[in-house]
Amino acid sequence: MASLELDGLRKEFDGGSIVAVDDIDLSIDDGEFVTVVGPSGCGKSTSLRMVAGLERPTSGRIRIGGEDVTDVHARKRDVAMVFQNYALYPHKSIRQNMAFGLRMSTDLSKEERQERVTETAEMMGIGDLLDDTPDQLSGGQKQRVALGRAIVREPDVFLFDEPLSNLDAKLRTTMRTEIQRLQEELGITAVYVTHDQEEAMTMGDRIVILNDGELQQAGRPKTVYENPTNQFVGGFVGSPSMNFLDVTAEPLSSGVRLTGANDDFSYDLTGGRASAFGDSQRGSYVLGIRPEHVSVSDGGDQNAVPATVDVLEPIGSDNYLYLDLGESKTGFEGDGAPDFIARVSTDVEPAIGDRVQVSFDESAVHLFDTETGEAVT
Ligand code: ATP
Repeated sequence: MASLELDGLRKEFDGGSIVAVDDIDLSIDDGEFVTVVGPSGCGKSTSLRMVAGLERPTSGRIRIGGEDVTDVHARKRDVAMVFQNYALYPHKSIRQNMAFGLRMSTDLSKEERQERVTETAEMMGIGDLLDDTPDQLSGGQKQRVALGRAIVREPDVFLFDEPLSNLDAKLRTTMRTEIQRLQEELGITAVYVTHDQEEAMTMGDRIVILNDGELQQAGRPKTVYENPTNQFVGGFVGSPSMNFLDVTAEPLSSGVRLTGANDDFSYDLTGGRASAFGDSQRGSYVLGIRPEHVSVSDGGDQNAVPATVDVLEPIGSDNYLYLDLGESKTGFEGDGAPDFIARVSTDVEPAIGDRVQVSFDESAVHLFDTETGEAVT
C-alpha cells in the first residue's frame, strides 16, 4: 500500500471551456480511507480517472508512494478501480474474471494465481461461485466479485467509483460495512467516490467535498459537519440540510445583533461565537444552524425568535417541524416553502398554525459571508 498525492491537479475539456477539475491539492496517507463527495458534475469521476491513468491531466502531478506516476500508463500503475456497473466479462467464469487482472499485471505462476483467487474468493464469501458466470449472480454477488478482482491484485491504491449505486438500500448498507472491514483488515489506501453524503460521512476516515471542480474542504467527517469552511459545505453535508437565514449584523455592547433580512426577527449573539465574529463586522451575512440545534417552546427565552408551525413530520425517533419565522405571521398561511426545519423530540408536537418561540444552540450558530460564502464564525 502507499500514499497518494495530488498536486495542483487540473483537467480541462473542450479546449478549456470546461474546467472539470480545478487545481486540486490533496495528500492521502498510506492506509487512509478517503471519501470524495459532491453534486453531479463536480469532477469526482474525472479526478478518480486521472489517478487511475484513464484520463490525462491538463496540468498538475500525481504521486503514488512518493513516485510521480503522472506520465505512467494505467496498466503500469499499481491501482485498482471498482466501478458501479461491475465491469465483469459476461462469458468468463468468476474464477477467470478474478484471475484476469492478475494475469495482466503480475509475474505469478498459474498455480499461484489460482491460489490467490481462491483465497480472495473465500475471504469475500464467493468461494462457491467460482465456476459460475456473472449472469448467474445477483447484483450484490457481482459487486463482491468486482471487489475481489480488485483485491486479488494487491494494488497500492484502491479507487471506488460509486460502487454501490446499483444495489438496493439494505444490500448497500451491508456492503458498506464489508468494504470498511476489508479496508481496515488489508490496510488499503482507498479513495471512494459517491454522490451520497451520508455514505461519505459514515465510511471515510476523511471526507473531501468538491463543487464545480474545486476542493471545498477535506477533513474528518465530524469536523466537516461541525465546522464547515463555507456555506456550500454547511448545506451539502447533513440531512435535512443546515438552515440558512439572510441577516444583517450590527454590534451590541456585548455581542452582535443579527436582524432578519425582512426585519422579521432579531437574534443576539453573545457567547464565544460573537467574540470570534468580532464587533467591527457590520454587514450582511448568512446565519446557518442545523435542525438539531433548534428548539421550540411557548416562551421564556429572551433571545427566542417567533415562528409559526407549518408542518409536523414524525420520523419515528424525532419530529421535524417546518417553521415560518417572523413576527408578522398571525397563523398558518400555507405560503409555500417554510423558512426553517427543527429536529425536536417526539413529545414536542405543536399543532399546525401554532405560534412558537424558536431558540438556537448558540455554540452551533454559523455565520457565512454573503459575498464569498466563507465561514466567519
Ligand atoms: P456525476 O456524479 O454525475 O458522475 P462527477 O462529479 O463524477 O459527476 P465528472 O464526470 O467528473 O463529474 O464531470 C465533471 C465535468 O466535466 C462535468 O461538467 C462533465 O460534463 C465534464 N466532462 C467529463 N468528461 C468529459 C468529457 N470527456 N468531455 C467533455 N466534458 C466532460
